[in-house]
Amino acid sequence: MTTLEIVLYPDPRLRAENTPIEVWDQNLRDTAQAMLELMYSSEGVGLAAPQVGINRRLLVFNPEGDKEHADQEIVLCNPQVANKSKEREFGEEGCLSFPEIHASILRPLRVVIEAKGIDGKDLTLELSDWKARIFLHEFDHIDGILFIDRMTPADKAIAKPLLGDLEYEYRERANN
Ligand code: ZN
Repeated sequence: MTTLEIVLYPDPRLRAENTPIEVWDQNLRDTAQAMLELMYSSEGVGLAAPQVGINRRLLVFNPEGDKEHADQEIVLCNPQVANKSKEREFGEEGCLSFPEIHASILRPLRVVIEAKGIDGKDLTLELSDWKARIFLHEFDHIDGILFIDRMTPADKAIAKPLLGDLEYEYRERANN
């Protein structure tokens, strides 16, 4: 099995179009499992396929961020937001594609999701608070939207030097 690696900003794969999952096979299950493993080892709570360089509409998360709580794992294929609350709240977020950067992001408090599971079956989920926030962050990724796009101008200004460092490191890797 190929080893997955986290794709860092400003890699263009984070902005590329993500195509729907069409085949529910062992390869898909292996990919989802490898994403969960990488998420845990990176101390994250969620990961979207484009963040491992796979431009498909697949995401995984675990609000506990802990392998010991594997019962909390959620794997979603082709998710869609069926409904979201008008009520929104700011909350602290980080992103594995943006090491060291954190910001407070405004998100709906509750969300209803329609998706297919890892077995290809239809599922409907209603999430709130932290779980809704994690989902919405990962869901943005499969639409090529990054949390820097949703930062307040003040937070974006604070993040700017770190973003500059990531852009520099990306160019250095590309040139070597
Ligand atoms: Zn992210």
